[in-house]
Amino acid sequence: MSHAAEPRTPASPRDPWDEPADGLDLGPLAVAVRRSLNGDHPGETGTMLPPLVDHHVHLMIVGEGALADSALAGVVDLGAPLHLVAARRHADGLPRADFAGTFLTAPGGYPVGRPWAPDGCARELEPEHGNGRSALPGAAETAVSEQQAFGASVIKVALNADVGPVFDRATLDAIVRAAHERGLPVVAHVEGDGMTRLAVEAGVDALAHTPFTELLDDVLIARAVAIGQRWISTLFVTGYGTITPDSERALDNLRRFREAGGRVLYGTDLGNGDQPLGVNPAELGLLAAAGLGAPDLLASITDPWPRRERAEGIATFVPGVPPSAIDDLPAWLAAAYIVPTEDLEAL
Ligand SMILES: [Zn+2]
Repeated sequence: MSHAAEPRTPASPRDPWDEPADGLDLGPLAVAVRRSLNGDHPGETGTMLPPLVDHHVHLMIVGEGALADSALAGVVDLGAPLHLVAARRHADGLPRADFAGTFLTAPGGYPVGRPWAPDGCARELEPEHGNGRSALPGAAETAVSEQQAFGASVIKVALNADVGPVFDRATLDAIVRAAHERGLPVVAHVEGDGMTRLAVEAGVDALAHTPFTELLDDVLIARAVAIGQRWISTLFVTGYGTITPDSERALDNLRRFREAGGRVLYGTDLGNGDQPLGVNPAELGLLAAAGLGAPDLLASITDPWPRRERAEGIATFVPGVPPSAIDDLPAWLAAAYIVPTEDLEAL
């Protein structure tokens, strides 16, 4: 029988209950609020969100105090010398910072020798021998516990096969095991053929960038999702506003990761190239292009990872009328600032 004879299902009309009639559904994290009558902007209305977090920055490049007046309440510093980590460890003030400390890398591996990488921001580890169960701690275990002692709450490994040697599987396994034994997640910089596969097979918890050098197959993406791997977006730095082979691969990979249920974290790699010192609306726009709707996009930028709990006592306030379309969300959110939660009352 000819398929042409079958009745066609008409395209279903949009369900009117999908979205409120007057705009974009921002999801459960957004609350309509009014500022208190006692503060600087008495009675101003807007939207309250949880504290915003950029999950990939480099304070050693932008400067330790550069984000103090931004809308970011939290940052995850993914590569800095340990003296900077130690100095910031007990600092009050915003944004609160989590640190990976030094990059762990193979001898001569990325980012050793890069012009932006100061001395002390990478630690080269000799290959691990044996099964890691000997009486003496191996180099991986020693390095991980030293990072933690200086205040790192994440361990970063560099797996960049395009510019230098990378860890073999045994050494990477030893690092992941040592980190997990101490309750620390491992985040990997993956670049070059096979590096995402290596990170997934070793059980790495997060990728510092959406993979941009190779188009991943759906099976590997499904494995990344199955182990609960998080991907930090950093889409903007794959093209700086232009379409490049890297930006197209990253967008394609992230779209399929998202569709498969993968957890996306907003991150900019702040310090890498020219970006605003705060929320980057271009990164948000690219997340929307990768298929994140407004609720997912807001979840990606308010996720407290690697912490379990959000900062208490503060909230994000976005003044004015919320966006009516996803295209307007980046500029709207870029106008956000931090206020004490007690300054806001729900409408
Ligand atoms: Zn980075």
